[in-house]
Amino acid sequence: MARLLVLGGTELANSFVAAVREAHPDLEIILSLAGRTRDPKLPDCEVRTGGFGGAEGLAEYLKTEGISALVDATHPYAARISANAAEAAKAALVPCLHLIRPEWNREPGDNWHMAADNEAAADILDELSSNAPLTVFLSIGRQDLASYFLLWNCAFVVRSVEPPPEEDLPPDAKLVLARGPFGEADELAFLSENAVDILVSKNSGGSATYGKIAAARRLRIPVVMVERSALPSGEVVGTVVDAVDWVAAQLR
Ligand code: NAP
Repeated sequence: MARLLVLGGTELANSFVAAVREAHPDLEIILSLAGRTRDPKLPDCEVRTGGFGGAEGLAEYLKTEGISALVDATHPYAARISANAAEAAKAALVPCLHLIRPEWNREPGDNWHMAADNEAAADILDELSSNAPLTVFLSIGRQDLASYFLLWNCAFVVRSVEPPPEEDLPPDAKLVLARGPFGEADELAFLSENAVDILVSKNSGGSATYGKIAAARRLRIPVVMVERSALPSGEVVGTVVDAVDWVAAQLR
């Protein structure tokens, strides 16, 4: 029987697993998670958890587990695992697809400051807070908080699914633990209740976390948008439908 390995940890991966299961009931699907989130939402399939040990470890896994095809449906900012997937698939001669949500585009009324990475985002905040203190909603997860440590004129509201280590939180940051999806109405209330002056966000794409972008537009709050790094090498699609079609083509 053909075996599909899906690299997940995203809503998109879960939707893809559900769709591919329906389209190919005989296909054996293994969903792989990094193991960062306790009690993750899971689709109905076999799940393995934890790193593979780099591209070499993943290539070894593909061979020993007899994987027929690999779909990388990790988050657009999980660059290392996507690069490892491309390299491992090439080494193991397994076809590989990257399923990546298309980026959000600027809409009329959006006031976005583009930042190449978190360091650049922190520089923008530093400049914008030079005349008056800012309350910043830092909505970038919990892994890249260190870049924002030395911004003395910024007060931070940090929201993440799991708590970051205390030493990673910027001084006096308010921590809010919550799991999306977050709708626009909820985000309007959140931004107002926390008197947020500016939002820092990744360009994650998709609808689950778009509410804060739409709410910032409504409230005329500027957004510092941390851009994606380059796409991984290899075949890339942006929708579950296209990814299911790709699987069908591999099974022919
Ligand atoms: P990363 O920096 O690209 O990967 C770091 C290491 O974690 C990889 O080298 C790999 O370890 C392991 N890993 C990552 N994803 C894995 C998976 N699906 N299955 C098995 N091992 C995995 O990734 P990250 O940014 O830390 O993200 C980790 C997980 O959280 C991913 O599943 C991603 O989809 C999800 N996520 C990330 C973000 C984000 O903003 N980065 C947001 C939402 C969800 P080895 O080298 O040992 O194989």
